[in-house]
Amino acid sequence: MTLKYPPDSDLRRLLRFEPDSGAIWMGDRRMVLMHTMALAALRQDLLSSIGPEHARRILTRMGYASGLCDAEYAKKMRPGESLKDSFLIGPQLHMLEGAARVTPVKLTFDIPAGQFYGEFRWDHSWEAYAHQQKFGVVVEAACWTLLGYASGYTSAFMGRLILFKETICAACGADHCHIVGRPIEQWPDGEAHRVYFGDDSLVEKMEILQLQVEALKSSLEPTVPVGRLVGASDAFRKAYTLMGKVAQTQVTVLLTGETGVGKERFSRALHELSARSAGPFVAVNCAALPSELIEAELFGVEKGAYTGAHASRSGRFERADGGTLLLDEVGELPLAAQAKLLRVLQEGEIERVGGETTRKIDVRLVAATNIDLEEAVRAGRFRRDLMYRLNVYPICIPSLRERRADIEPLAQSMLARFSALHHKRVAGFGERAMQALQQHDWPGNVRELENLVERGVILANQGGMIEVEHLFPNQPETAPTGLDAHGQLAQLPSAGDDELCARILESGRSLQEVEAQLLDFAVTRARGNLSEAARLLGLTRAQLAYRQKSHHAKADRADADRPHDLGGV
Ligand SMILES: [Zn+2]
Repeated sequence: MTLKYPPDSDLRRLLRFEPDSGAIWMGDRRMVLMHTMALAALRQDLLSSIGPEHARRILTRMGYASGLCDAEYAKKMRPGESLKDSFLIGPQLHMLEGAARVTPVKLTFDIPAGQFYGEFRWDHSWEAYAHQQKFGVVVEAACWTLLGYASGYTSAFMGRLILFKETICAACGADHCHIVGRPIEQWPDGEAHRVYFGDDSLVEKMEILQLQVEALKSSLEPTVPVGRLVGASDAFRKAYTLMGKVAQTQVTVLLTGETGVGKERFSRALHELSARSAGPFVAVNCAALPSELIEAELFGVEKGAYTGAHASRSGRFERADGGTLLLDEVGELPLAAQAKLLRVLQEGEIERVGGETTRKIDVRLVAATNIDLEEAVRAGRFRRDLMYRLNVYPICIPSLRERRADIEPLAQSMLARFSALHHKRVAGFGERAMQALQQHDWPGNVRELENLVERGVILANQGGMIEVEHLFPNQPETAPTGLDAHGQLAQLPSAGDDELCARILESGRSLQEVEAQLLDFAVTRARGNLSEAARLLGLTRAQLAYRQKSHHAKADRADADRPHDLGGV
């Protein structure tokens, strides 16, 4: 089959050189003449700076864009002639533009059916020539821009992605190139080639990698306490110190605290700090198990013990042998299971449900609860003897409200973790967002913070900040914050300054007192950093120090003047 080109005089007429105006035109598109050696230098630079894969992608996309432009001529020129003649505008323009001599070898297509098959021979490809000039004879085909053009032109013409590949390339030492094109789905390795046409930011990838490296680094470096615990507040330190002291012993530990304070994380950290860290850590949430299965879950079951026990299996105690077992929400254990648990703790051995033999086990028990066990004992829902057995070494984990100084470091470490997890580059928290986190009441504690930060990472724009509306999407604009009549931090009615002044006057405090309180508030907000506090107040550091000193002097005088109460606090 020989395919003959129709005359290309119509295409040649499109090309206009206008040296007087410094422009070359093809129809209404501006063109430019470039040295192939300049393009070869660009190619060499791309290859050495970003590597062959990314260089190939960029050059393919450049050719693709050029093919798309030329496909527009195919739509409007040669009306009334055969579709094949319209299609051949592409190869003919490619020749006119100096890409290569293009000879059609096979060409069949059916636009409504989406079918395409094409084979072309390229002689004198400028790209193979330029590539060879820089790199000599190479192993892999190198006419990426030209292939991009063929794919772009044909895809626009067909209305679906047509992938062209080189089966022979002059850059590899052949005397010509040969290309084959078909719909990308019909190539066995088509999907792997899709990356060359897609939008793909190398910079973004590198930034995400950087984030992942940082997240990994922070999980490796013991700068924050082990076991993913983050915190520097006094309340946190206190609980952490208690834990550090007991970790190396075998003592049963009872973790108390509100829901979501991180009892499981604490017990993991306890396990990691203990001599059992190489052993298993097993956690059971007693409230999540149906009460009829709880004994089988904890102690294991022998085959045939009850309907449905088709096979023998071990319980959590056995699985935790040599390690640590966390019984979370231990206050929810049914009384029958409590009796059995007590026996296990007293004797150090378990018996599977429906079994006759006992097994020795070596487990360090950590129990956790968010209810008051004393109260559960009084209400008859919890055995007193078991409570004493568990309550050997209680550690109360503070609520997030009691450790506000930890909110920012916790939020930052979660941000790093979730950015890496969701492959999202987030620049940080906006000022108002951080303020909102600091002021929130945190009924759900660390877990709630975690949920909010994860949502924030997902909702924030790529490369942008997490703003208030990403954290609290359903909340109206937060009102400004200030001191209320009791000197407590509170949200003020947004009615404005008049309202604030009225409230201060109604509080009956003197201007001196208001100023002293405002200074203290700024120092607290700046976490004791006086320069920062001064900046918040619009003062210099010296001015702030002077004012603080005069307030303290007055307070001391007032103290000295006042008769001391007996036992006054
Ligand atoms: Zn080639």
